[in-house]
Amino acid sequence: MAALRVLSGTRPTSQLHLGNLLGALDNWKKYQKEDAFFMIADWHALTTEYESHLSLADQVFEVALDYLASGLDPKKATIFVQSWVPQHAELALLLSMITPLSWLERNPTYKDQIRELADKDIKTHGFLGYPVLQAADILLYQADVVPVGEDQLPHLELCREIARRFNHLYQKNVFKEPKAVLSKVPKLPGLDGRKMSKSYGNAIYLSDSPKEVEQKVMQMVTDPARKRRSDKGHPEVCPVYTYHQIFNAKNETTVAKECRAAERGCVECKREMCQTLQVFMTPMYETRSKLKKNKQEVVDILKAGSKKAAAVAQETLERAKQAAGM
Ligand code: SF4
Repeated sequence: MAALRVLSGTRPTSQLHLGNLLGALDNWKKYQKEDAFFMIADWHALTTEYESHLSLADQVFEVALDYLASGLDPKKATIFVQSWVPQHAELALLLSMITPLSWLERNPTYKDQIRELADKDIKTHGFLGYPVLQAADILLYQADVVPVGEDQLPHLELCREIARRFNHLYQKNVFKEPKAVLSKVPKLPGLDGRKMSKSYGNAIYLSDSPKEVEQKVMQMVTDPARKRRSDKGHPEVCPVYTYHQIFNAKNETTVAKECRAAERGCVECKREMCQTLQVFMTPMYETRSKLKKNKQEVVDILKAGSKKAAAVAQETLERAKQAAGM
């Protein structure tokens, strides 16, 4: 059976954290036995971060380190940078000609983000057109499946509609309609119990040293009703317990039982969690630190991946331009 063509990516708006690892990277690794393309979507980063004075090139490098340290293997999957493959921008322009404005304006994610990112001026052409660029990213590779989070489902549906409209308009079967694959991933809270996010300042990054991991875990919030060591705890409302469930599953029942009976204190509970997390994260940290010292090796991986991606993308782009009479 032919391998499935898989496409996914992430925006290099910050270094990746444990939430990204569980929510995306761990899932992507399962697709490495297929024909997988993993992108660092720097054009997409600009849609909301165009005013940022951080170096996007540096951010791309950091995310590449996160990809490689987490186990994405350039010998198995194609790892590339979106802007190094100019076909993405060109196809996005072509698709923007045929995408009705009303489709973009009714996109629920657009409205949510305008509300959520009220401190940024993102009422721009680029941000409204974000799903068109995303459609180009996917359609260029004729992806069979796209592993996505639930919030990305409307974008993928839009991508399918754009592909259908293009094929119908020009009466040519240029684009394949991709399928979304939703994966069940555990929800990892941040240090303060809210969703883990760079903007909340509550994340544990893949680049954190064992010492930084310890400092962060020790400041995590716990059951707010447990004021004293002798108070019985409620693990179901404690973020530290969620970490035990994910990273220390074999002791999860004991942790819950001892917490409920006030037989363990929160400090020792966090210490145990911290040690487990350090065992899990230290190999990634060491690989990442080694790669960071050898920037050229990482750049070469990205160049080779982008070259391979461009060859596939160019074939699709030519067919699309031909269909549109160009
Ligand atoms: S003992 Fe552990 S699970 Fe219970 S409240 Fe404290 S940190 Fe949370």
